[in-house]
Amino acid sequence: MEKVKQSFDLQSLVRENIRNLVPYSTARDDFQGMAEIFLDANENSMGSPLPGNFNRYPDPMQGKLKQKLSLIKGLSPDQIFLGNGSDECIDLLFRAFCIPGLDQVILCPPTYGMYEVCAHLNDIPIRLAPLDQSFQLDLEAIGRALDPRTKLIFLCSPNNPTGNSLRYSDIETILNNFDGLLVLDEAYINFSRHRSWIPGLAEYPNLVILQTLSKSWGLAGLRVGMALGSVELVRILNRVKYPYNIGQDTQELALEALDRVDQVNEWTRILVQQRERLEQELPKLGEVVQVYPSDANFLLVRMKDAQDCYRYLMRLGTIVRDRSRILLCAACLRITVGSPGENDLLLEQLSSYVSSPR
Ligand SMILES: *Cc1c(COP(=O)(O)O)cnc(C)c1O
Repeated sequence: MEKVKQSFDLQSLVRENIRNLVPYSTARDDFQGMAEIFLDANENSMGSPLPGNFNRYPDPMQGKLKQKLSLIKGLSPDQIFLGNGSDECIDLLFRAFCIPGLDQVILCPPTYGMYEVCAHLNDIPIRLAPLDQSFQLDLEAIGRALDPRTKLIFLCSPNNPTGNSLRYSDIETILNNFDGLLVLDEAYINFSRHRSWIPGLAEYPNLVILQTLSKSWGLAGLRVGMALGSVELVRILNRVKYPYNIGQDTQELALEALDRVDQVNEWTRILVQQRERLEQELPKLGEVVQVYPSDANFLLVRMKDAQDCYRYLMRLGTIVRDRSRILLCAACLRITVGSPGENDLLLEQLSSYVSSPR
């Protein structure tokens, strides 16, 4: 049974100024053949002081990188938008679809902080529909937050900072009933026991999936994030981005890294094992109240006194994230799963914390 969402019209969601935008045409746009001499872009014809062709502008559409990613993701290259981290994708979604001061976004806290920051940055009113006590979506709250001016709903699965995946059926319900864009952030999907929503892109033109090379791929320093969606959506984001948003070195290094998928899979397997180890070991410590189930490479841990523990670990040189002041996360620390040796040390430091006088 093929069910394709009928009522969705992406063009009517795009801001009018973006729809009418004549994008900056880059130096090599109208050239496909084989040229020898490039005197069109005011580059330095003498060369670059670094090894490599850094005197030339990079491919503005990152063709090779998208080609390789398309094989990994099982999508066509023109369904892939690349940004300077997912953070650029988040910002561009606001800029392409939300009229400042007028259009709205729904966020489901506690969740990744950049959605809120980017909304504020773009002056987009936020309606909150907090997660329930088990960190799942509250569909009724989302229904109440909906407005004719709601353009985007941001969801994160596995969710940061709670670590859990959102129910498949809830996401499906929203996709079937919402005529704006559902942006699903899958930054941690490779650590999850649940599958990606990528196959859903064929069915739902209102679905945008964010993924990144920053987490399981181990390339946070490189800054490559992606928005996966319909060809039409990717075309819009391409019009809005800065022409050369991904540098030459980044494109080359990312291409190299994508060949090392075996290494990455091995590390992912180890990190998931280590997560399970910490899930078992942490609750044995007296100061730990609860370890929440995680599909990511971190654990949300409720402590008796989170701030005290946070400061104790900090004095020993171990930094975790204090999430104790955010909604539904009272007394919680968010602890990234380390390497096996780092986790040994963490557990040692935490047991010394438990037995320390306070
Ligand atoms: C870490 C993280 C990202 C990654 O952002 P980049 O800009 O790609 O490094 C995106 N979303 C969530 C929820 C994250 O936790």
